[in-house]
Amino acid sequence: MMRRMPTDLHSTVAERLRRVGQRYTEQREALVAALERARKPLSTLEIVQARTGPQSSVYRNLAVLEHVGVVRRVVTEGEFARFELTEELTEHHHHLICSNCGKVEDVTIPTDLESTMDRTVDRLAKRSGFAKVRHRLDLIGTCRSCA
Ligand SMILES: [Zn+2]
Ligand SMILES: [Zn+2]
Repeated sequence: MMRRMPTDLHSTVAERLRRVGQRYTEQREALVAALERARKPLSTLEIVQARTGPQSSVYRNLAVLEHVGVVRRVVTEGEFARFELTEELTEHHHHLICSNCGKVEDVTIPTDLESTMDRTVDRLAKRSGFAKVRHRLDLIGTCRSCA
């Protein structure tokens, strides 16, 4: 899928870390690059396999990057957590999740459908007194290899 990456993803991340007194280490940079390259949510195992450092540092780095809003945890059907760059740094999208193997793919929904959804969501939110509402929509099924 097409992604609008900020002109300099890495300097944005570095700045966010600096604000909380953290350094943009080589391992953290490798981790962000791996997520950018993948263009789909990765499991911690896949992140470690992308040579982003030992597992213990990967966990710690994911926690730090999650805290500064660079990485977000994706809720899947599987037992393993998956991570991706936040929509703020990439673009709004949805996930196709395999209920059997836990595989996750990014999908975008046509713009007109997105606007219809936003209008509906706004109406619902107003009724319940919710503000600044955004949506997440996961499609769950069985992937090609599991079908
Ligand atoms: Zn599957
Ligand atoms: Zn959407």
